[in-house]
Amino acid sequence: MKIVLLPGDCIGPEVMAEARRVLLAVLPGAELDERPFGGEAIRRLGDPLPPETLEACRNADAVLKGPIGDPEFDAADLRPEQGLLRLRGELDVYANLRPARQDAVDLLIVRELVGGIYFGAKGVREDGTVFDTCEYHPSQVERIARRAFDLARARRRRLTSVDKANVLETSRMWRRVVTDMGRDHPDVELDHMLVDNAAMQLVERPERFDVIVTENMFGDILSDEAAAMTGGLGLAGSASLGDAGPGIFEPVHGSAPDIAGKGVANPVGMLRSTALMLAYGLGLAEEGRRLDEAVDRALAEAPTADLGGTATTSEFGDAVLAFL
Ligand code: NAD
Repeated sequence: MKIVLLPGDCIGPEVMAEARRVLLAVLPGAELDERPFGGEAIRRLGDPLPPETLEACRNADAVLKGPIGDPEFDAADLRPEQGLLRLRGELDVYANLRPARQDAVDLLIVRELVGGIYFGAKGVREDGTVFDTCEYHPSQVERIARRAFDLARARRRRLTSVDKANVLETSRMWRRVVTDMGRDHPDVELDHMLVDNAAMQLVERPERFDVIVTENMFGDILSDEAAAMTGGLGLAGSASLGDAGPGIFEPVHGSAPDIAGKGVANPVGMLRSTALMLAYGLGLAEEGRRLDEAVDRALAEAPTADLGGTATTSEFGDAVLAFL
């Protein structure tokens, strides 16, 4: 199995080093191909996504990515984040999976990643009005809904589609398409929820949810809310999947320049992303579950400083390896 590693910037290489150790323990035969990406690639090659890195990603079974971003590039024309948007587009990863688990809560948000208001027409009219347009084609809704139904089938078979159908045309179409697809998936219990209600239910009764499918901006906001409810953004991993070709697996947190180089970064988001890669990117659900359980045990035994503990990044990695 060929896995491209993109360590990224600041704490990126530190948390990636732990993912690498753990991966080699779980999949001793894996071929790990480390490539420059983000700020590091701008410095070395003048491009956040060099052609050789993109080519390696295209030919891989999965791409494991560390956080990117560095204050050095904040005011620059060429920024690390541009490489990430391009990579997502090139690999057409339209389904962003964000699991949130803690105690009785075990939910999965499936967010549409390459459409909606972030990608629609935008600009400034002559009178100074500024606009961003939310656009979806029914085929974009179909493919993300199909993915969500399939994921629900492999879990507790409940799917909640979140929209704003009382106000938005795109949401009315979204609801129509998802409802139609529900007829082909009678084994999955489907319900629809307005996004304002979903935001409230996530706080009040998060355990009621299994899989949530929603459009880009609603998913952006709800997935951070769900992460905050289940241990915080620092612990969350994510998977971005297309139909063919490799997915991208990355922690939700950023590159944390304030703690870079100190060896204290928490590698949990990176390791949760590695578990998602095993399960959803390489079809190794059992190995993914095993890694998640080892991370749960390490969290109880050897928490890092951000969680009130004393473990360094590599000590946390040692604990995970011991529990695997
Ligand atoms: P951040 O997530 O990097 O940091 C926010 C706070 O959380 C900081 O105090 C940091 O020390 C802490 N933190 C984050 N991850 C941690 C970890 N693993 N262990 C311990 N503490 C951790 O967010 P920011 O400061 O707003 O952004 C820094 C850079 O990261 C920016 O350049 C931003 O653009 C970039 N960023 C990248 C991604 C990505 O690669 N997908 C995502 C978000 C932000």
